[in-house]
Amino acid sequence: MPIPSFLFSCRQATLLIERQAAGPLPTATRAQLWAHLRLCTYCRRYEFQSDFIARQARPAAGAMVPPHVVLPAAARARLQQLLAAVVPPAPATASGFSKDG
Ligand SMILES: [Zn+2]
Repeated sequence: MPIPSFLFSCRQATLLIERQAAGPLPTATRAQLWAHLRLCTYCRRYEFQSDFIARQARPAAGAMVPPHVVLPAAARARLQQLLAAVVPPAPATASGFSKDG
């Protein structure tokens, strides 16, 4: 069954599923997402799997890393490069300088 355009595309629906995990969506958006999920098997499956992964990962997120486990310097540098590529720079303050300098 084709999904009416006012109920979001699957791409928008999966993005909203992830946003919903971080906080409540506006009521109208939540209703449209609910309707999309009633009609779309793929997004229902995505929502189920995303929730499953989040529940499974939650204990690991709070776990302590043993002190003898050290990230190699090359791996650390590579991660920092990747983060710098996807994280936007800090916004400039009123003085014209970002808080990082
Ligand atoms: Zn969908």
